[in-house]
Amino acid sequence: MKPADAIQDLQYFGEFGGINPSISDASTYTFLSAKTMFDTFEGNADGCYLYSRHSSPSNLYLGEALAAMEGTETSNVFASGMGAISAVIMQLCSAGDHIVSSRTIYGGTYAFLKNFTPKLEIQTSFVDITDIKLVEAAISKNTKILYLESISNPLLEVANIAALSKLAKKYKLQLVVDNTFSPLSISPKQLGADIVIHSLTKFINGASDAIGGVVCGTQEFIDDLRNVNNGAAMLFGSTMDSLRAASILKNLRTLHIRIKQHSANAMYLSQKFESLGLKTVYPGLASHPSHCVFKTQMNTEFGFGGMLTIDVGTVDKANALMELMQNKNLGYLAVSLGFYKTLFSAPGTSTSSEIPENEQKTMGLSEGLIRFSVGLDNDIKRTYTSMYKCMQSVGIF
Ligand SMILES: *Cc1c(COP(=O)(O)O)cnc(C)c1O
Repeated sequence: MKPADAIQDLQYFGEFGGINPSISDASTYTFLSAKTMFDTFEGNADGCYLYSRHSSPSNLYLGEALAAMEGTETSNVFASGMGAISAVIMQLCSAGDHIVSSRTIYGGTYAFLKNFTPKLEIQTSFVDITDIKLVEAAISKNTKILYLESISNPLLEVANIAALSKLAKKYKLQLVVDNTFSPLSISPKQLGADIVIHSLTKFINGASDAIGGVVCGTQEFIDDLRNVNNGAAMLFGSTMDSLRAASILKNLRTLHIRIKQHSANAMYLSQKFESLGLKTVYPGLASHPSHCVFKTQMNTEFGFGGMLTIDVGTVDKANALMELMQNKNLGYLAVSLGFYKTLFSAPGTSTSSEIPENEQKTMGLSEGLIRFSVGLDNDIKRTYTSMYKCMQSVGIF
């Protein structure tokens, strides 16, 4: 089944026949027999709830819908994307293990792998994920995880997930894919990923009013994460609140419409920006180095996503342009993505500032780079015309 249809077809009714599921307003649950309580602790009482840090009906509804979208057996929702990412890494790795990761990943993930996990003797090699030979050369006998983002943040590099999955299988690695930038457009599990992660904070929730995350995978792995004795989800405690799970599920139901509009608007703007002679990076442009890779692995109807970058040369011009565009109500100078309004930021001084300056340079992250999360504007032509005027006023042309 197609990913969006899988979300739409999931039917949950509320306690009184409500067309949305009831919210489970409880941290703990009663048992009719003491034996069932014991069995639930041991993980042997399917369908019974014990304590809401472990699982709750509202969290399971949202988790089932996200697993259906990604085509995995099941999933577990978390209080944040970082909660999901750190739990997966700590569940899969022990002291002495090694990770091969894309060098262009979310700043928080980079900081976790670069600064935090070494304290636990887990080392990471950061590589250019678009160069399969380099990736293979970085694998050692202690490597446990191959970690990447379908479309990388902020450079929008596209990983060839099918090819990397072959590599992961050859060396018995877990292929972990953060699909936050491309929900519905790319289905990593179908391409061979073992574990798919999202920050729900971005496109999936789409309202910039909540923080959340999810790990989609096999029943066995999700059971491991939730294990009361040694599960990272259970023991780190980054549990999503039931009220929030209910609100995110309602927003998820319209994700397919939003992604199509984000993609169409981003395609329009990127073509216009490129024709102005601006260095524009968007996977939908033929000039994008991984345009063909994206095309072969995408679910076509959802397009190339809502993220694009332009390079305006200097940090001063970038800042002046962003401030002016905000004054003209064309979007907001803010980090994050997936909002109805366009959001823009300069990654070098914001979301990727965890990455040292010299490393930013080698990966091609220049100071004049502006990242756009293109909004749901009804009339993107009008938006573009105003953006063009802003660019003229700050002296980009
Ligand atoms: C935002 C983001 C995260 C972290 O998610 P939070 O919900 O902020 O914890 C991880 N990966 C990517 C690609 C992101 O954009």
